[in-house]
Amino acid sequence: MSELIDGKKLAAKVRSEIKVRAEEFEKKSGRKVGLAVIKAGDDPASAIYVRNKIKACEECGIASFAYYFDGNVTQANVMELIDALNADKNVDGILVQLPLPKHIDERAVLSAILPDKDADGFHAVNAGKLFLGEPVSSVACTPRGIIELIESTGVAIKGKHTVVVGRSNIVGKPTAMLLLGKDATVTVCHSKTENLREITRTADILVAAVGKKKFITADMVKRDAIVIDVGMNRDEEGLFGDVDFDAVKDVAGYITPVPGGVGPMTIAMLLKNTVDGAKIR
Ligand code: NDP
Repeated sequence: MSELIDGKKLAAKVRSEIKVRAEEFEKKSGRKVGLAVIKAGDDPASAIYVRNKIKACEECGIASFAYYFDGNVTQANVMELIDALNADKNVDGILVQLPLPKHIDERAVLSAILPDKDADGFHAVNAGKLFLGEPVSSVACTPRGIIELIESTGVAIKGKHTVVVGRSNIVGKPTAMLLLGKDATVTVCHSKTENLREITRTADILVAAVGKKKFITADMVKRDAIVIDVGMNRDEEGLFGDVDFDAVKDVAGYITPVPGGVGPMTIAMLLKNTVDGAKIR
C-alpha cells in the first residue's frame, strides 16, 4: 500500500510562502505583484482553469488582470494586447490560457510575451535556457510542480531511473529536462515507443503525462516506485488521471491522486513564477 503525495497540502504550503513574498514585494515597491490572464474562446475547461488561477492570485495578494475574448478574436488583437501588457509596469506575468481558437498561431502568441513576463514558462527563450541548463526566470509550471511533488517524498532523485510517458512541450519534455538537471537517468516514452510496459516497469520514478484515462496499469509499475499522475481526463463518470489509481496504489511506494495531486501544484507554480518574475524585474 503506497503513501499518498498530497498535492493540495503541498500547494497550500507553497501558496502561504508566496503570500509572504508578495506582501514583502508590495511593501518595498508600493504596488502589488501583477498577473495578466488572457482567454479566448469558450472552452469550458479553460474557463474553470482561469477562474481557479484568478482566485489563487487573490488568496496570495497578487493583483490579477483578466482579458476575455470571444472565439472570433483576431491574432492581431491578441498581439496588440500582449504588446501593451509587456510595457505595463504593473504586470509581472502574462498567461495565455491554451488552447486558443484554431485560427490563431499559438506559438507566435507565446513568443510575443517578454521572456521575463512569461508566467507559464513556455517561451522559446525560457525553454531553451532550461535545455542548456542555464538559470531560468520562468520554468513550465506543471513540470516545476512535479519536481516539488517528487522531492516532497524525501527520496533522492539523483541517480534514479525516471521514465516520463509523454513528450509534449508543456509537460513531458520540460519534465525530462528538469529531472536530468537533478541527475536522474531519464527515459522519455511516447506513442511510438515499443515495449512500453517493459520500460515503465524499470522506473524508480514514473511520470504519466499521456492524456488517457487509467492508461498506466499495475503491471506497468515497479514495486515501491514513485508514481506522478499528470493526466486530467474528464468524462461522464468524472475526472480521472492517466494512472489506474486503485490498482497502482497497491504496487507503488508513493502516488499522487487525481484530483489533488499535480493540478494544485501547477497553479502554485504559476504564482511562484510570477513572484520570481516581479523580483527579477
Ligand atoms: P499531449 O496530448 O500534448 O501529449 C500526450 C503525450 O502522450 C504525447 O507525447 C503522446 O505521444 C503520448 N502518448 C499518447 N498515447 C500514447 C501511448 N499509447 N503510449 C505512450 N505515449 C502515448 O498532452 P499534454 O502533455 O498536454 O497533457 C497530458 C495529460 O496531462 C492530459 O491529460 C492533460 O489534461 C494533463 N495535464 C494536466 C495538467 C495539470 O495541471 N494537472 C497540466 C497539463 C496537462 P506522441 O508525442 O507520440 O503523440
